[in-house]
Formats: sequence, C-alpha cells, structure tokens
Amino acid sequence: MTPRRTRLAPSPTGALHLGNARTFLLTWALARREGWRIVYRCEDLDGPRVKPEAIAAAAEDLRWLGIDWDEDAGCQSADPEPYLAAIHRLAAGGWIFRCDRSRREIEAAASAPHAGEHEVRFPEAFRPPPGDPAWRFTGPEHAHRLRIDSGPRIVRDDLAGHHRFDVSAEVGDFVVWTRQGVPAYQLAVVVDDARHGITDVVRGDDLLPSAARQAILHERLGQPEPRWWHLPLVVGTDGRRLAKRHGDSRVASYREMGVSAERIVGWVAWTCRLQADRRPMTAATFRERFDPGALPRDRITFTEEDHRWLLDA
Ligand code: GLU
Repeated sequence: MTPRRTRLAPSPTGALHLGNARTFLLTWALARREGWRIVYRCEDLDGPRVKPEAIAAAAEDLRWLGIDWDEDAGCQSADPEPYLAAIHRLAAGGWIFRCDRSRREIEAAASAPHAGEHEVRFPEAFRPPPGDPAWRFTGPEHAHRLRIDSGPRIVRDDLAGHHRFDVSAEVGDFVVWTRQGVPAYQLAVVVDDARHGITDVVRGDDLLPSAARQAILHERLGQPEPRWWHLPLVVGTDGRRLAKRHGDSRVASYREMGVSAERIVGWVAWTCRLQADRRPMTAATFRERFDPGALPRDRITFTEEDHRWLLDA
C-alpha cells in the first residue's frame, strides 16, 4: 500500500510564531504517528509580501524544534508550468473568465484567507455572459476567476467535524489567477497538493472555508479531494489569531533569548493536554505521546503567563 502523505507549507511572509509552531508540530506528530510521508513546501507566490530571508528561516525554526520531513518540494515560484497547465485545463472546461475588476480583491487573493482578513463577495452580475470572449485564459498577466455555482458543500474534517459551506454566497466566483502573473493561493495549493500526492491536509482551522473552495477546484481539475484535518488556532487574549499585535511570539526571538526548543514543545504539549502542567518536553516525547483524540476542540489562548513561563521568568 502506498503511504499517505501530508505537507508542511509555510508562507515566507514573516517569521514563524508560536501559533505556526503548534500547527506544524501537530502536523508532524500526527504524520509520524500514522506513518504518513511528509513533504516540505515553501509557498512563496505572494510576491509583495514574501520576505526572502524568511524562506530559510522557516525551515531552520522547524528543524530547531525537532521537526523533520521526508521530501523537500522547494518553492512554488521555481516553476510556473504546473499552474499554467491547470489554468489551461480550467479554461478548456469553460470554468474561468478574465476579470479586470477590483484591484484590492485580486491582490488579496494571492494569500491564504486567514482569520480576520476581510473578504468581498463577487457579484454574479459582474460575470460575463455565456459566449463572451472573456471565458478563456487570456494570458498570465490578467486576473481570472472561477465560476462558482450556488449550492452547499460539506467539508468532512477528521478533526473539526463536518461543516457546510456555500462558496457562492461567501465569495462567489473567486480569483484563481492574479494580475501579478501568478496563480492565486487557492489554485496554487490545489495544484501542489495534487502533484505532491498529498492525501491529508493538516493546518489551522481558519482555512476551513478554503477547504470547500479547494474541493471545488480539485473536482474541476479531475483530482481526488484530500482528507482534511483543521486544527484549532492559537489566539491572543482578545480572541484574535495570534499575530504581531499580541507582542513578539516568534520562535526565533525566543531562541535568541535563550529559550530551549523543549520549552516551546512543552508548552504546545500542555495546550494539547499531553501533560497536566507546563514542563519542557522533547519533540521525540511529544511525538510518542501525541493523541489526536485528546486534542481540545477549542482555540488556545496564549497569555502573558505562558510568555513568562517560556522565558522562565
Ligand atoms: N502557506 C499557507 C499559509 O501559511 C498555508 C496553506 C495551507 O496549508 O493550505 O498561510
């Protein structure tokens, strides 16, 4: 039997923080426990937001934590061909149309739509009429959208349960190719997950609505839909996704302050109920003890107390 496969897919748009560390550590531990192969992929297509130094730093942070992988698929920007092949396939199926509207929306489409990022629904009235010459791929320098028919779609998630989405009501015809000449996040991820043979996608649950969009794209491209495992996010005390506004929680900053990887892993283990209180733990022990069934279903709040414990202050 060919082994199942998952991926670690950081975006080098900034340094990894504790929330990312937790998601990657859990993805890794789940994969190792289940005997899946792990592919590492750098998602660097969001040109204006990519920080070149963050590419190597992400891999370094993960290795420092004790996370490893079996294959390195490199960076998405290395080869545009697979994405172009997919967009041509969608065009041949009559699924995409050129769209020159709303610069802001199209730019936003290059990145994964994480929690707190505002989305605008594309009005159906803006869709070109049948037979219009816009219904084809008019070149990589033009933005293109995918036609979305109305109706619900159920995402069956092994961790988060079943969720119902109506992509047509949420975003409508979404952008699959940006006017920056690159595929939008949704298309790039679907093309890569298919060509890297990904059977199981594990990531933060703010991307759960994206699973419905990606399922549609997989279907349009004639690819099997992967299994989904969306993990509760780490949030700040204000309930919002952990980010810069909550202070510096970058893995590299803790490391520079002399915090050990075992302390960060120990904190994650405590949030996963693998131990009753915060105590340092190696990644190897984390992996042995990891139990997806025991994972809390709620979001994890990162507090000042957690920060002080990490610093041993
Ligand atoms: N690279 C994406 C991000 O960091 C994650 C994409 C995914 O897991 O589908 O936001």
